[in-house]
Amino acid sequence: MRVYLVRFLALLVVAAVSAWLATLYFGSFAGIFVGLSLLAAPLAHSYFQLEKLQNISVLDQTKKVPSAKGVWGEAFLKLERIITDARQHIHQSEQRHERFILGFQASPNGVVMLNDALLIDWCNASAENFFGISFRTDNQKNIIHLVRHPDFVTYLSLRKFEHPLVIVRTGFANALSLAIQVFPFGDNQLLLLAQDITDMQKTDSMRRDFVANVSHEIRTPLTVLMGFLETMQSIDLPADQRKRYVEVMLTQSVRMKSLVEDLLALAKLEASATFAPMNVCQMSAEMTQLKNDAEALSKGKHHLIFNVQLGFDLLGDRSALQSAFSNLVANAIRYTPDRGTITISWGLSPTRHGVFSVTDTGPGIDAVHLPRLTERFYRVDGSRSRDTGGTGLGLAIVKHIATRHNAQLLIASSVGEGSTFSLRFSPDRVV
Ligand code: ADP
Repeated sequence: MRVYLVRFLALLVVAAVSAWLATLYFGSFAGIFVGLSLLAAPLAHSYFQLEKLQNISVLDQTKKVPSAKGVWGEAFLKLERIITDARQHIHQSEQRHERFILGFQASPNGVVMLNDALLIDWCNASAENFFGISFRTDNQKNIIHLVRHPDFVTYLSLRKFEHPLVIVRTGFANALSLAIQVFPFGDNQLLLLAQDITDMQKTDSMRRDFVANVSHEIRTPLTVLMGFLETMQSIDLPADQRKRYVEVMLTQSVRMKSLVEDLLALAKLEASATFAPMNVCQMSAEMTQLKNDAEALSKGKHHLIFNVQLGFDLLGDRSALQSAFSNLVANAIRYTPDRGTITISWGLSPTRHGVFSVTDTGPGIDAVHLPRLTERFYRVDGSRSRDTGGTGLGLAIVKHIATRHNAQLLIASSVGEGSTFSLRFSPDRVV
């Protein structure tokens, strides 16, 4: 500061001395002219330098701070430093802002920022999908004019956000269940979060159905058992009738036992690792065992054919694979009428997939049932299933085992002709 004062005083002195000398030699007019000219020169220079600053901009990187000599040079240098700092600051804030936006965009939950009048300030892509809005076109529009669900409109209008709101959005390929919660923040602004709970609700309803089904399956044999027990307790039955009753009770007890065993098998499969271990399962031994079991179950009522291509074994969980094979064979025997033919095959496909299949000449299954056949307790012929000791869980168990072994369960069937159930194992499970 002191340097500038000295320079200014020096200029005054030079102007005064020059004016005085000009007055001495050329008269007072010349003196005034010289003095004023000397004082105006730095002013003109200053205007010239200020002119250079006209186009400078903090935001536009291409516009550089001009250079100059002397006092202006120093001022420009300082200005350049300030502008560089400001630009850096803006760049950092922009990056932070970008990261913040990217974070919200990555969220699978819908995020909408609303102002106090419920106008959309910002929303992420998930919110656009959930509510069928577009930030580009709906920015600063009232959300309740865009999402016209009555519960949603009431929820936002009443501004009572203590509890989340659940709405079902239709008009999509599948109905969408959304849990919506609003959090006030800042200056009367609102942060609206929307979570897709469709799958969660589906799982809940599946769980409820499962419990209802299990209860129903157990209650039926239990009711029969209790009925017979009460009768036997109150009436003195003749020996042959008593024997028949005991047989029925035994059948019902076996049914309950099978159900509990299948439920435990399913629970065990669900709790075990996603992929089965790679233990060698020797198919020649498995097929021999399967043949013995099938013959015992069929009691000579069916024509059983075994087409086994030996020399290839499977890698997997031996007891689980045994259970899958025997489930498919048992189904074929149970559903195929007497004198029908059941063909059990094991071999390698041209693509080196291991294929285990069971073909029967039974009643076949209508195509409408095929997609649901592996659902728990789904039965095409309920009475045949129950009469033959079925639990409705066999194919669900097989499907589970197949998934754990990178295998596909393929079902081909035509009504009146029969069915083929195949397990197609990926080449890395075949040795
Ligand atoms: P279940 O214990 O009732 O046999 P599964 O899950 O093993 O239960 O099979 C589901 C349903 O698929 C059965 O109830 C039956 O209606 C049908 N099904 C399974 N295998 C066959 C088959 N080989 N032939 C005809 N229908 C079958």
